[in-house]
Amino acid sequence: MIAVVGSLNQDLVVPAPHHPVPGETVLGGDLARHPGGKGANQAVAAARLGAAVTMVGRVGDDPAGGALRSALGEAGVDTRHVTVTGGAPTGHALITVDPGGENTIVVSPGANARLGAADCEGAAELLRSASVTVLQQEVPDEANHAAVRLAGGTVLYNPAPAVAGAVVPPGVDLLVPNRTELAALTGRPVPGTTEEVAAAARELTGAGAVVVTLGGDGVLLVEGRAHLHVPACRVPAVDTTAAGDAFCGALAVALAEGDGLERAVRWACAAAAVSTTRRGAQPSLARRPEVAQMLAA
Ligand code: ADP
Repeated sequence: MIAVVGSLNQDLVVPAPHHPVPGETVLGGDLARHPGGKGANQAVAAARLGAAVTMVGRVGDDPAGGALRSALGEAGVDTRHVTVTGGAPTGHALITVDPGGENTIVVSPGANARLGAADCEGAAELLRSASVTVLQQEVPDEANHAAVRLAGGTVLYNPAPAVAGAVVPPGVDLLVPNRTELAALTGRPVPGTTEEVAAAARELTGAGAVVVTLGGDGVLLVEGRAHLHVPACRVPAVDTTAAGDAFCGALAVALAEGDGLERAVRWACAAAAVSTTRRGAQPSLARRPEVAQMLAA
């Protein structure tokens, strides 16, 4: 079983002819609401691939919170440990997208910011028995530290979104940053070449292995002095939103099923590639037969 401790957000998306400058009002298109949040996306990614998944998180006592819990439940995620929080709104992401597909995002964490050590302690039995626990950086450090302490299985830490000066909790087995997040953790410029990425990953000595996602360039797997480049699957990508979430969810599933790291990374690349061929976050996430097809192609 997989435990995901993390954020649930309602994404409010508005297409706009251009992004407003400070003080400007822009008339945009119709508002769309989608379930999102890195934690929830990763939980759905894993559940859609057939894993038993339980989410630990918080939503507000409002219609958005109810909708997010329902969306998770419909995806097959156990929401027993998604707590309704009085006095805080559900987390929202306010997203504008221009005609070129470029977006700006403001996240209002709301109830996600209230997730604390006590929430993880309340889920101690779950975390102890989970074969993989998955964490990100959209909830307070305190919750992540407690989750690492309580986790009985493999801990996968996705340091997203990038937070300058963020510290990875001690005890993480597997760190999964993209290039920008790797730069935020090392305090150095974004690494370019494979050698630079490998060198940066080696600076992060706390984790057992580092899996750096490189977008359309695939993944660099760094373990000790060794590194291995796994190319991305070639696909006609139309929207890479949540590719990282698709990757983390799938990686957790493969590891929970006992795959070795290299095999798990190849499988997760295939699942993430599938997600880039469809628009949106949760609707784009892959089903198991699609991953098999992608690997066979
Ligand atoms: P994030 O969304 O966190 O920035 P990445 O962009 O690195 O993460 O994407 C995560 C993974 O998704 C990559 O390692 C790769 O396997 C897959 N991926 C992303 N973009 C593409 C693409 N254009 N073609 C194929 N696979 C992709």
